[in-house]
Amino acid sequence: MVSVVENLQLVQNEIEISRSKRTMAKNALVTLVAVTKNHGVEMMQQAIDAGVKNIGENRIQEAAEKFKSLNSEVTRHLIGHLQTNKAKQAVRLFDLIHSVDSENLAAAIDKAAYSIGKIQNVLIQVNLAKEDSKFGVYEENLENLIARVDALQNLRLCGFMLIAPNYSDVENCRPLFRRMNEIFVEVGKARQNFDILSMGMTHDYKIAIEEGANLVRIGTAIFGERNY
Ligand SMILES: *Cc1c(COP(=O)(O)O)cnc(C)c1O
Repeated sequence: MVSVVENLQLVQNEIEISRSKRTMAKNALVTLVAVTKNHGVEMMQQAIDAGVKNIGENRIQEAAEKFKSLNSEVTRHLIGHLQTNKAKQAVRLFDLIHSVDSENLAAAIDKAAYSIGKIQNVLIQVNLAKEDSKFGVYEENLENLIARVDALQNLRLCGFMLIAPNYSDVENCRPLFRRMNEIFVEVGKARQNFDILSMGMTHDYKIAIEEGANLVRIGTAIFGERNY
């Protein structure tokens, strides 16, 4: 049996240890997003009862069903890829969309947000390692996408999201996290409400935090392995 409460405690401890190893932004806190995808509502509720304030899901349909039976106040994060034709549902369901990676998608979210009178908080997902298997904008196209998002009235750009490659030696992620943080700090200099750097999952969150992440998305370390 997985103990969500115990796992959460372990993860929180590790987060604090990694924070203490930071050389920069030493005081910035780390938001823990508990990733409940492929787990039932009971697990989600257990985490919330144990104090979790942020929930991450990667599929619209699954999230819609699970959120229906939730009666607690939590912040809802869309961490997975979003198709433009699902933007309408996404803006109703989620407080923060982590996966904006194209002008088309940004425009679709903007339109959907407008239609319900919402300013949608978003992150741009960056594919620094240029992995074919992953979504995210390449670094050389980032500036253009930021400008496009800025031009849309119903989006608020709050930061960046990165998914690091699944290296067998997790230390290989470090330069990517470091580079992402550099870009985040640089871009943030001239901006307001730009304060979220979403990077780090179960296998790499400690290094991500050491390199500046202030939001981590963790599933397996809290809920155990997922059965697909
Ligand atoms: C599934 C997922 C996570 C959580 O992964 P774990 O390895 O289970 O911690 C984090 N971020 C994204 C984008 C995901 O899809």
